[in-house]
Amino acid sequence: MLPVKKTSKSRTRTRRSHHALKPVNYSICRKCGKAKLPHAMCDCGYVNPSFSINIAENE
Ligand SMILES: [Zn+2]
Repeated sequence: MLPVKKTSKSRTRTRRSHHALKPVNYSICRKCGKAKLPHAMCDCGYVNPSFSINIAENE
């Protein structure tokens, strides 16, 4: 099947007006100050003021 009508520039561009990517939102770790994703555990083991995990450095 083929499209009945050619899609106009306007219609194509209107559809693509929603395609732009938004910048990724980061929050800053309160313990080490690095950027991390909100609601995620930081590399240092910090989650929130009442919960954090001690990560032993295995290197
Ligand atoms: Zn951290």
